[in-house]
Amino acid sequence: MPELPEVEAVCRKLRGAVTGARIVEARVLRCGTARVAEEAAGRTLKAVERRGKHILLRLSGGVTIHTHLRMSGNLYVIPDHRLHSVYARVIFELRGGQGIVLEDKRVLARMDALSDDEINSRLDRELGPEPLSESFTSDQFVARARGSRQPAKLFLLDQSNVAGLGNIYAAEALFRARIDPRKAMARVSPAKLRGLHGIIVSVLSDAVESAVAAYAGPGAFHSEESFPVAVYDREGEPCMTCRRRIVRIPQGGRSTYFCPGCQR
Ligand SMILES: [Zn+2]
Repeated sequence: MPELPEVEAVCRKLRGAVTGARIVEARVLRCGTARVAEEAAGRTLKAVERRGKHILLRLSGGVTIHTHLRMSGNLYVIPDHRLHSVYARVIFELRGGQGIVLEDKRVLARMDALSDDEINSRLDRELGPEPLSESFTSDQFVARARGSRQPAKLFLLDQSNVAGLGNIYAAEALFRARIDPRKAMARVSPAKLRGLHGIIVSVLSDAVESAVAAYAGPGAFHSEESFPVAVYDREGEPCMTCRRRIVRIPQGGRSTYFCPGCQR
């Protein structure tokens, strides 16, 4: 599943390859609205941006193509727009013959065309600060956490607190910060919360680096390059710090992994 680091890798690859490109035509087979085809043709791709796990292709004339990859989507450039895979759901033909493809085996990804204002105000409403930007400050994070009764893990997964952190990195950050994922945020000490803020930034920065390395050839991620995890998906295995067994519990309909020895 593409998490924030993978989405960032996808954006960087696109940004380098097609910023400034002219879109001749867009064909929507599935996963996209009719407006994508109507609005994209004839416009220039001015910028590729990311907000949380949302990808924003900024086109000329104040139009944005908004994409969410969900569970299995991918968005990448191909040398010839006609030579796409059978799982291509939206195909942009670029001047010069290249293509941008939204690919998704499971047909869960979503693409829409909106005005810049529409999508910006929608994402401003839904999403908290971007964890890899200057808007994510320690003071703001600690103040918000101190006022929250949400269990630590659910607080981190709530997009209005931090944009797009995701299940794996929320678990890893809480392990490194030695915080029990079940503990209400308001009961975690300010010192631990300040530590957690810095850990979120470093965990995500490391994860972006490994995702970018794994995405050297766009279209797929090499799993052997994946981020080294301490607790995620390691139920029953010994903790690398204290040797107690990693535990898995359900939280908010998803699995949380943690070490009951290290995380209090
Ligand atoms: Zn441990």
